[in-house]
Amino acid sequence: MIHPAYGVLRQVTESASVLLCHNPGPLTLEGTNTWVLRAPASDEMVVVDPGPDDAEHIGRLAALGPIPLVLISHRHGDHTDGIDAIVDATGATVRSVGSGFLRGLGGYLTDGEIIDAAGVRIRVLATPGHTADSVSFVLDDAVLTADTVLGRGTTVIDDEDGSLADYLDSLRRLRDLGSRTVLPGHGPELADLAAVADMYLSHRQERLEQVRQALVVLGDDATARQVVEEVYRDVDETLWKAAESSVRAQLAYLRAV
Ligand SMILES: [Zn+2]
Repeated sequence: MIHPAYGVLRQVTESASVLLCHNPGPLTLEGTNTWVLRAPASDEMVVVDPGPDDAEHIGRLAALGPIPLVLISHRHGDHTDGIDAIVDATGATVRSVGSGFLRGLGGYLTDGEIIDAAGVRIRVLATPGHTADSVSFVLDDAVLTADTVLGRGTTVIDDEDGSLADYLDSLRRLRDLGSRTVLPGHGPELADLAAVADMYLSHRQERLEQVRQALVVLGDDATARQVVEEVYRDVDETLWKAAESSVRAQLAYLRAV
C-alpha cells in the first residue's frame, strides 16, 4: 500500500502499524502518523502520539482493541491534541516527558527507560532539538523518530525551545543505533536509520555553511528573514516562515560558537 493510506491501519514491521490521520499540510506532510505497537500475540496495544483532536481518527484507534498505554513523542498539537479524546475513549494511561499533559499522566518518561507493554520492548531515547521535550522510541528492529527524523524533507527547529546543537547531538545518537527501520511522525517509513541520520547531518552542515556564507555577504547582524531570502531561494515560498525559524536556530548556533 502506498503512503498515504488514510483511515486504514497499515502494518509496517512485525510489531508496528501506522494509522495516518487526515491532517495534511506543509509541516505535517500527508498528516500525522499515529503508531500502534503490539506483539503478534497481544490483544492489547500501545499507541504512540494520538495525533490532533480528530474524532474520526481517535474513534478508529479506540475501535482497534484495548489501549492501556499512550506514549507521547513531544508536545506539538498535531501529535497531542487528541490526548483527552483517546483517554476518554480508552481509559489509557498517558506518558510524556512532562510538558504539561495532565490528563491520565502516568509518570514522566526518562532517557534510557525500558517500557514493556503489549509484548513489545520499547526503549526511551531522549532526542531533543526539534523541541526540548522530543523523544524517540527504540524497538528491536526499528525506531519511532516522531519529528526528529521525518519520512521526507527536513525537520524544523522550534523557536520556543528547539536547539540546533541539541538536534545535531540527537542525530548522532540516532545514527549510533545503526541500521534499522525509521518510523517517523510524518511521511513514509525509511529503510535505514544510520543512512538517513548521516544524510540529515550533512544537509545541516551544508545549510550552516550556506548561512555562514550569507553572513559574509549580508553582514554579521543580518536578520533571519534576510538570510532566508538569500539561502532558501530554492525552497517553496510557503515554507519560508518555517525556514525563518530554522535560520534563527542556525544563527543562534553560529553566534554561540
Ligand atoms: Zn513537532
